[in-house]
Amino acid sequence: MPWLKTAIIVQQPQSRLRASNVYSIQTEYARLQLIGVALLQLSEKKDKHVLEETVFSKIIRKEIPSDMLYQDDLVTAFRDINPARPTHILIVPNVHIPTACEFSDEHEPILGRMLRVASKLADQEGISADGYRLIINCGEHGRQEVMHVHMHLLGGADVGPMLVR
Ligand code: 5GP
Repeated sequence: MPWLKTAIIVQQPQSRLRASNVYSIQTEYARLQLIGVALLQLSEKKDKHVLEETVFSKIIRKEIPSDMLYQDDLVTAFRDINPARPTHILIVPNVHIPTACEFSDEHEPILGRMLRVASKLADQEGISADGYRLIINCGEHGRQEVMHVHMHLLGGADVGPMLVR
């Protein structure tokens, strides 16, 4: 921030730039840089909060309607609005984790619960005997559309080859 350095010097037009003055300017400059970094971090936190507001957060909080099948302290499951197979359920963490890239050790109980709930719902849907597919799309190459981690439970018909080559 060179303009800041200039501003500090302009604030002291009468003073002669002796060594001690230069030192205090440098100290002041470093202090203001630290404040700048702190302000930047604060605004990034605010942006992150805005990112939390996906449609899935609103479904979890029951602010918008969904065909919800299950909810506990860690996860929520509801039918996909645009089903790709007779059974198409989304299982999502209640806390906002944007993508699988942000998974950390502390999320392990949530991830275990997502898998367990998927297998329970598959039983409930009567699709376990024939099998099903669980998918988590991640980021741009994974073609993830909603930036709130979700596991697709797809079944009730053959889901086709794993990937188009
Ligand atoms: P992705 O491509 O991100 O892995 O999948 C997002 C999924 O969310 C899609 O299958 C899409 O149909 C589903 N979806 C998007 N918006 C809504 C919604 O408002 N309600 C429900 N139930 N599903 C949604």
